[in-house]
Amino acid sequence: MAPPAVLSFPPRFVPAALISVCKVSKEDIPLSRFPGVDLLELDSLLSEEERLVRDTVRAFVDDKVKPIIEECHREGRTPLELVPDLGALNLFGASLSEYGLPGLGGVAYGLIMQELERGDSGLRSFVSVQSSLVMYPIHTFGSQEQKDRWIPRLATGEAIGCFGLTEPDFGSNPGGMRTYARKVGNDWVLNGSKQWITNGTLADVAVVWARTDDGVRGFLVEKGTPGFTSSDQHGKFSLRASITSELGFHDCRIPGDAILPGTTGLRNALMCLNQARYGIAWGGVGSAMECYYTAVEYAKQRIQFNGQPIACHQMVQEKLVWMAMEISKGQLLCLQLGRLKDAGRLKHWHISMGKRNNVWVARESAKLAREILGANGIVDDYPVIRHMLNIESVFTYEGTHDIHALIIGEAITGIPAFNAPERHAAQQEEEKPAPATVGSAR
Ligand SMILES: Cc1cc2nc3c(=O)[nH]c(=O)nc-3n(C[C@H](O)[C@H](O)[C@H](O)COP(=O)(O)OP(=O)(O)OC[C@H]3O[C@@H](n4cnc5c(N)ncnc54)[C@H](O)[C@@H]3O)c2cc1C
Repeated sequence: MAPPAVLSFPPRFVPAALISVCKVSKEDIPLSRFPGVDLLELDSLLSEEERLVRDTVRAFVDDKVKPIIEECHREGRTPLELVPDLGALNLFGASLSEYGLPGLGGVAYGLIMQELERGDSGLRSFVSVQSSLVMYPIHTFGSQEQKDRWIPRLATGEAIGCFGLTEPDFGSNPGGMRTYARKVGNDWVLNGSKQWITNGTLADVAVVWARTDDGVRGFLVEKGTPGFTSSDQHGKFSLRASITSELGFHDCRIPGDAILPGTTGLRNALMCLNQARYGIAWGGVGSAMECYYTAVEYAKQRIQFNGQPIACHQMVQEKLVWMAMEISKGQLLCLQLGRLKDAGRLKHWHISMGKRNNVWVARESAKLAREILGANGIVDDYPVIRHMLNIESVFTYEGTHDIHALIIGEAITGIPAFNAPERHAAQQEEEKPAPATVGSAR
């Protein structure tokens, strides 16, 4: 039977608070055609509000994102036409509660990220950057004037932001950054460059991390500031529905009050990354769910050998089972991360567990789904190849898979293993024989 057209929610399912939160009327909330992946009845562990937020974004993705996303991916363009809707649904800064924002809990926020990434990792990246890497630092470290100026405009999507931490020579180790902000009179003068910056050329405001005489601090640099340049990275095969840019600062003079006054060191940039990484843990589940669902439907319909669907073969079923089980485990992991977040007990290495595991599950699921789709797995008539390409970026950014292993490794052993060569050099020094005090070979 054909899937039902967009339906209306029965009014009794829609709590009044949510209607104002999501700025939608009861009649406007449609049901998605995507049935979800819920082998363990985890829906029963969600509140009514969390389910409603999830279902609202799920339907938005089906109705507004899926019809255009393959074309955006082909053309290598950000779907900017969705930005007003994303703002109207309060999906930018959804966990903030000032300026009329909904102040959603961790699970509801995560479910938004899950559904957006089911649509496209680039779309989820857009919302993650705006929410976790731009609105969050302005809200947490900004002055009242900075908050009043930017948060309302970022919330509606009238303004777009970007986050500049990575540099050409410093990716996994941002602490080595060279971008430098010098105090000149009342102003700051920035010099340096940032690379791989999502939304860089689109942004009205860049949150830029730079070294100062007092350590690393965050700055707000506005589009059009003399000495501030941006250009797009071309030739990407991944995250094509998202712009990635390079930022340049050449004696870029910004006012003294462009500094985020609450920033005191690199730690503050990592706090922003933790917010974004939390969302990515949920996003990984969304990407995997889309690939899994596509593969199940395809396997039940694709007929080979004796008129049988390929789903009847044990090897195909094993792949589907792997995906279903890993998705279920990823969902449980996310749910616990969300509950810990809301209880104020979420640690940075918990987030690493979520990001590392769930993005890996999404990556493996995309590969398995692509195999099941055969030749159809390499064309964008189906979403699988796009997810498979996208997840390579997600695997690398916001802390690579291996960097998260080191974060978790440090948490469980107490030993940081990031600087292995230096540790080795120090050990070698200790192991050297003591210098001879009497006589010498030479
Ligand atoms: C599409 C996209 C969008 C991005 N958006 C942004 C953005 O908006 N803002 C921003 O600031 N950055 C952004 N980034 C940058 C991203 O965060 C970096 O790419 C990431 O941190 C990895 O840095 P790198 O690419 O320089 O890799 P490297 O740090 O050079 O790492 C290369 C390899 O070496 C490994 N490695 C490095 N150090 C160690 C170690 N100590 N032990 C073991 N293995 C190690 C890594 O795991 C990796 O496999 C984006 C990247 C991409 C691809």
